[in-house]
Amino acid sequence: MYDLIIIGCGPSGLTASIYASCFKLKHIVVGDILGGQMSLAPDIINYPGFEEISGKDLAEKMATQVKKRGGEILNESVSKIEKIENGFRLTTESGKNFDSSTLIIATGAERRKLNITGENEYTGKGVQYCATCEKFEYENKTVAVIGGANSAVQAVIQLASAASKIYLIYRGSELRSDPILIEKIKNDPKIEILYSTQVLEILGDGQKATGIKIKANDTEKTLNIEKVFIEIGGVPGSALAIPLGINIDEKGYIKVDDKLTTNIQGVFAAGDIVSVGLSIEQISTAIGLGARAAFSAFSYLKHQNAPFLWGQSQIKR
Ligand SMILES: Cc1cc2nc3c(=O)[nH]c(=O)nc-3n(C[C@H](O)[C@H](O)[C@H](O)COP(=O)(O)OP(=O)(O)OC[C@H]3O[C@@H](n4cnc5c(N)ncnc54)[C@H](O)[C@@H]3O)c2cc1C
Repeated sequence: MYDLIIIGCGPSGLTASIYASCFKLKHIVVGDILGGQMSLAPDIINYPGFEEISGKDLAEKMATQVKKRGGEILNESVSKIEKIENGFRLTTESGKNFDSSTLIIATGAERRKLNITGENEYTGKGVQYCATCEKFEYENKTVAVIGGANSAVQAVIQLASAASKIYLIYRGSELRSDPILIEKIKNDPKIEILYSTQVLEILGDGQKATGIKIKANDTEKTLNIEKVFIEIGGVPGSALAIPLGINIDEKGYIKVDDKLTTNIQGVFAAGDIVSVGLSIEQISTAIGLGARAAFSAFSYLKHQNAPFLWGQSQIKR
């Protein structure tokens, strides 16, 4: 019986493990892709302590630290979680079972794709899913942002500081972003918003993206652009949690309180999987939430028969 099982070995799950080791919790991390989404980032420039590092290298460094502190990582997919007496049972795809008193779900969220021709071919070669993560390579360039909610409009605001021309392309007739954000982009002459417009294809020269094919009012046309930012949200990895009865929001993200507690006693969630607002879907926020969830699991185990004393850790400082 483990004190804690952490599901997911992205930055959030790995950080939760480092803290769980500091709290001397008997635990294991079970996750199928080491580093999670972070491992897809070629060049991270906004994670403190590393001026520039690839996501794969950062994941390896985190995994080394996990193991050095005594944590164990099992690279497998989890297929089922069920409630058992005094805890939870987790079953992996290969049929292994693990029991624990508490769980941290850190299964992240994948970036939603358009699933159009050229998208896979030019990902990382002009097609990006994270404007916030981008270096200043859009300076004086014509770029396109696809999407119509807050992440897309925030991307446009960021890119407007340096790009020469920005198309915001949205399939709906009205942006779904906060009015205060829309206010910031609507009078900028560099920004052109194309409503009710579908992106059909990413075009390229074999090496990099060079344009997009779009369709509006039954008319197709090509825009020459140098970078495309697809900002149409994420697909949360909450499928595992649903059969357990965990509350999720309308987009599928796990609802938690400020201690990262779910509605099921003993189950915590951390990282990109938690209801939008706490995470801004970045490594630094995923890490902070992982640390906090580990502390909550530790406090829960310590204070199961006593009032929950948030902040009154037994760790000597
Ligand atoms: C292309 C790209 C570039 C990015 N660049 C940056 C950047 O430069 N800077 C930055 O701060 N952020 C960047 N991000 C965002 C950052 O990677 C994420 O915010 C962060 O990885 C979220 O961490 P997480 O641990 O919550 O989830 P994830 O990283 O998504 O990890 C989830 C983990 O759960 C596992 N998992 C899911 N389901 C199961 C299951 N059923 N069984 C077992 N394991 C499961 C996955 O395998 C993975 O290990 C980028 C994202 C992408 C996609």
